[in-house]
Amino acid sequence: MLLQPLVCGAGFAYNPAMLNEEAYNPVDTAKQLLAMESLLGNTDFLPVGRNSLPELDLPEPPVAAAGAVGAASKGAVLQELSPEEKAAALQQLDADEVKPCRKCELCKTRTNTVFGEVNPNADLVFVGEGPGADEDASGRPFVGRAGDLLTKMIAAMGLSRSDVFICNMVKCRPPGNRTPLPEEVAACWDYLVRQLQIIRPKVIVTLGNPATKGLLSTNVGITKMRGVWAQLPDIGPGLGGIPVMPTFHPAYVLRNYSVNTRGLVWSDLQSVMEHLGLKIPQK
Ligand code: SF4
Repeated sequence: MLLQPLVCGAGFAYNPAMLNEEAYNPVDTAKQLLAMESLLGNTDFLPVGRNSLPELDLPEPPVAAAGAVGAASKGAVLQELSPEEKAAALQQLDADEVKPCRKCELCKTRTNTVFGEVNPNADLVFVGEGPGADEDASGRPFVGRAGDLLTKMIAAMGLSRSDVFICNMVKCRPPGNRTPLPEEVAACWDYLVRQLQIIRPKVIVTLGNPATKGLLSTNVGITKMRGVWAQLPDIGPGLGGIPVMPTFHPAYVLRNYSVNTRGLVWSDLQSVMEHLGLKIPQK
């Protein structure tokens, strides 16, 4: 799939089709919901067998001369790392920098930092806005009700959480589950960039407004952004141009549990599956 970005000021890159109002086809949505209802309820329907993630023909990012896990964890190296090196680099970043981090006020109210999980070699990364109460208590991302829904969404794609990487813009819970402040996102930004540089995913799905606006450097709301492929701006060496699919946050889906909302999210996930060459389940 060829993505042609339109670059507007401050590194904002997005597909011109983003300017269109979202298309809503009730017939397509009804079909999609047959799958989505199964996704949210009886998972017996869900894909026949596991999907494997094939290699995609995406442009290679520049390769730096040096190649060491330690350097990669500092975000300075773009050399492709082995899965073991990626795991070590992420573990080092978490243990040495994120866990002891006190770069913003959120450190004062957190129980645990929430670095992200699971697969250091994932082709698909989900990025949310920040940990909630359940995540703060457990130190794991997306483990509450919204997390359960995200897990089902991933299962509907024929994948499991162990196939993907899930993380947030900020690694500590904003009190009261409020939206992270710009200064908190800025303080935590380097960790997210380095996670993405180490993992180097083939597709990123942004979940909700803060993650979409933050990663795509845009003020356009998720209602207009969702469902349309964008490209990651050049937020760090090796990251510019990674395809990004914005969609609604699972917590939003739970709060707005309508046929339309669920159908739109499922449509977005199907686009991701198509882009990754995954088998789309047929009802
Ligand atoms: S939110 Fe990020 S920058 Fe702020 S204290 Fe936590 S890890 Fe550090």
